[in-house]
Amino acid sequence: MTQTDDILVIGGGVAGLSAAAALAASAKVRVLEAEEQIGVHSSGRSATMFHYALGDALIRALTLASRAFFDQPPEAFGDTPIGRRMAVLVHAREDELVALDALEAEIAPFAELDRLDQGAIAALCPLLRVGDDGAVAAIADMNGLRIDQHALLQGYWRTMRSAGAELTTGARVSGIARDGGSWCVTTTAGERFSAPILVNAAGAWADQVALLAGVRRVGLRPLRRTIITFDAPAGTDLDHLPFAKTVGDDLYFAPESGRLFASPMDEGDSEPCDSQPEEYDIALAAFRMEERTHVTVKAIHSRWAGLRSFTPDRHPAVGFASDAENFFWLAGQGGAGLQTSPAMAAIVASLIVGGDWPVAAVAADRLSPGRFLRQPA
Ligand SMILES: Cc1cc2nc3c(=O)[nH]c(=O)nc-3n(C[C@H](O)[C@H](O)[C@H](O)COP(=O)(O)OP(=O)(O)OC[C@H]3O[C@@H](n4cnc5c(N)ncnc54)[C@H](O)[C@@H]3O)c2cc1C
Repeated sequence: MTQTDDILVIGGGVAGLSAAAALAASAKVRVLEAEEQIGVHSSGRSATMFHYALGDALIRALTLASRAFFDQPPEAFGDTPIGRRMAVLVHAREDELVALDALEAEIAPFAELDRLDQGAIAALCPLLRVGDDGAVAAIADMNGLRIDQHALLQGYWRTMRSAGAELTTGARVSGIARDGGSWCVTTTAGERFSAPILVNAAGAWADQVALLAGVRRVGLRPLRRTIITFDAPAGTDLDHLPFAKTVGDDLYFAPESGRLFASPMDEGDSEPCDSQPEEYDIALAAFRMEERTHVTVKAIHSRWAGLRSFTPDRHPAVGFASDAENFFWLAGQGGAGLQTSPAMAAIVASLIVGGDWPVAAVAADRLSPGRFLRQPA
């Protein structure tokens, strides 16, 4: 038997769930997720920050447009906050000051920044080395957020469910065909689903899903990123530590469940997969942590890796494919998929069911997947 809906969403990560939550009031929506649970891949493996120090003006505009949602989530999200205030500190050594000045100018239109000298850096983040062998200047956004990824995903799921949308887990899509004005989807378990509109929110697998449907890929590059956790020095006030990041893409660290986490901000090419950390990147995270801070990484408590998937221009691909009817792309969120999910979901709803365009600063054609049509098939 074939289950029929108005819109099928492939992928139960933050992209698919947020889109389903935004669409569910206007259409009969079903999310198909390959895993038995939601958020198993990138959405459950992130650094869970909301900040403006990554990407470019377009990513920052999507982030800014999402802020109100994090500060005041919809009622269906319940009482659990989805973000808590955490300062974001971007620091620079003497040889990195030009880059810090440039970043400060880029972020200034989006967030209020404080410029910190060595004393102020040490006060905000006593773990950082300052002076000759460390940071000499920094910018701080005291209004950054640490996202509760569990609460965020559950909130989207509750919102879609309360509006009548359904989630089918353990549904790995293995066949997609267009038949009589509908997309007909089969899973490896032999289940069949159909709907006039198909949303491709399959994360690192989005190009593979497109190929299943005979749609030209956008050229996604899944890049692995590694995180380790370890003990902070005794007496560290973890409650007040910021998210601290080098101005270049070398290292970030922050408090994590009574310990610290750190990432060497690696970008290793990967196939779409259940990403696992590599020994080199684990060692690099520990090395850079010791190089930039007073922390000695005596033992690594846990480690994980996840994929950040980028289009060739590192902007998301959001919109209907120009080479297939009612095939909608929602992919390429890179390293900002959690923090931009509210704005991206509103854009999806605007493009699929209509209504006002939600992010005036970002024109639809800058997100359109059609810009990649020259990619080889
Ligand atoms: C280490 C790391 C740090 C990060 N830090 C941040 C951060 O601080 N802030 C931020 O905003 N973002 C961050 N990100 C990025 C963010 O996690 C991603 O942009 C976001 O999770 C992407 O969401 P997604 O739903 O597209 O992908 P995913 O969460 O991977 O979801 C895609 C889903 O599609 C499913 N799927 C794939 N193929 C099929 C199929 N054939 N059939 C059915 N289902 C299928 C998969 O099982 C998967 O669950 C980070 C990412 C990593 C890895």
